[in-house]
Amino acid sequence: MSTSTRKLLAVFAHPDDESFICGGTLAKYASSGVEITLVSATRGEMGRRMGNPPYLNRETMAAARELELREACKCLGVQHLQFFDIRDKTVEFVDPDQLSDRIAGLIREVDPDVILTFHEQWGGHPDHCAIGKATAEALARTGLKKALYYISFGDSLAYPESFGYTREDISQINISKFKKAKLAAFRAHRCQTEMDEWVWLPDKQAMNRLGDYEYFIRGNEEALRRDRSDLF
Ligand SMILES: [Zn+2]
Repeated sequence: MSTSTRKLLAVFAHPDDESFICGGTLAKYASSGVEITLVSATRGEMGRRMGNPPYLNRETMAAARELELREACKCLGVQHLQFFDIRDKTVEFVDPDQLSDRIAGLIREVDPDVILTFHEQWGGHPDHCAIGKATAEALARTGLKKALYYISFGDSLAYPESFGYTREDISQINISKFKKAKLAAFRAHRCQTEMDEWVWLPDKQAMNRLGDYEYFIRGNEEALRRDRSDLF
């Protein structure tokens, strides 16, 4: 590991992507001194969950989710947060060229060692796929040698063969010591998690619902060169 500050840039679509999908990994690296910049392309204002019982509406939701994301960032140790202010559920309709240019500018500015985003095919939501595709394209445009990884849901990639990958294509980060931070971030996204009973169980029981590992598809040569148990 180098002694200079290591940096990670995460480019996601919605408030909560960072916590629900890879919160343990972000908390782990933040705690070891990695400087993390998170982009949420949207403010998640089209989310279907309005709190339980509902206390949000379409007008109040964006501000509420921004606050929740700021709180989640504190839980995880994410230092820098940016919104692209793209309307929720419309990332796929943004001019891809402009979007990639914008992200390329950010990559040059932040100069991260590691970039996390969604896989354009396995993203699971059109906004996720679109921001992932634009981010991979952006990195290619910069010509910079940064390790690119695609985030994945739960332990779906514990068996990568079903996605056409081998074990060698996957990095596996042990987050067992960071479940408390991940759980706190889940709870910070209150309007989205209020109806999930397990999140509000006593800490120990709730943490048992979180897996010990988060999985990442290694997206380029730089990433493939790294140890499978470490993104850096
Ligand atoms: Zn999302």
